[in-house]
Amino acid sequence: MLNENIAFIGAGNMARSLIGGLVADGWDPCALWAADPNEDQRSLVSQQWPKVHVTPTNEEAIAHCEVLVLAVKPQVMAQVARPLAAQVQARKPLVVSIAAGVPSEAIERWLGGDLAVVRGMPNTPALVGSGATGLVANARVNEQQRDLAESLMRAVGMTVWLTDETQIDAVTALSGSGPAYLFLFIEALEDAGTQLGLPRETARLLALQTAFGAARLALESDEDAATLRARVTSRGGTTEQALAVLEAGGLRDLMQQALTAARNRSHALA
Ligand code: NAD
Repeated sequence: MLNENIAFIGAGNMARSLIGGLVADGWDPCALWAADPNEDQRSLVSQQWPKVHVTPTNEEAIAHCEVLVLAVKPQVMAQVARPLAAQVQARKPLVVSIAAGVPSEAIERWLGGDLAVVRGMPNTPALVGSGATGLVANARVNEQQRDLAESLMRAVGMTVWLTDETQIDAVTALSGSGPAYLFLFIEALEDAGTQLGLPRETARLLALQTAFGAARLALESDEDAATLRARVTSRGGTTEQALAVLEAGGLRDLMQQALTAARNRSHALA
């Protein structure tokens, strides 16, 4: 059983997903601490995982931790982090932040400097254990801490390591905002199927299962998406007709523009 003590600052949606994933992965729940001033959030933790420690004060959680997970909203991060600096400096835990748009340099500075910091950018499917998280470590993070941060985030899905923090903006554009692009694609499939005469519920289910099935097939296959696409595109067949329309309509260029716009916005917000 893995049992490094982990303190979650903020016990909201993302922290609870992580706690659930860790416990399911065999992490000792007695090693987990969740701090949140909101009693309702603490109750949600206690009801689901009675052995996880909950507290209204961040200091109490940090007093026990080797890993400090910052899971509060980005706009309150500075005011939450600064008062914790003295205690964090005394313990020197690995700090993992999942706050969108907050640079690790700022987190390290607010917490007093000279700290191992991993920044993660998860996405909403993490809430159902199917997230995609980009991770980046600062120079003070050692191999063991890297593995620890990866185990933590793998509790809610897959992880990829980035070589440079500037790549986080591209991750935000691709996988961070990506679920919304796929929801739009699913909506469009559903609308188009309905236009062709299918009942809406039937179109909805077919669109959803097709998106899920295609992603699963691609994930479980050794072949890339282009090869899988070619395999289902018979010469002169129906798929070829549809793909020709999408290509002529500029789908690839549109996707490039969309991700560039999201990446630029992410950079501007940081
Ligand atoms: P959330 O609002 O559900 O949780 C934040 C929690 O922080 C709340 O429970 C709140 O009571 C608590 N909090 C507020 N002030 C506090 C304080 N002083 N000390 C301790 N806790 C305090 O938000 P969330 O969706 O869980 O997001 C958490 C972080 O994860 C955010 O920074 C967000 O950018 C990041 N993130 C979330 C997602 C997602 O899919 N939800 C995706 C990517 C990144």
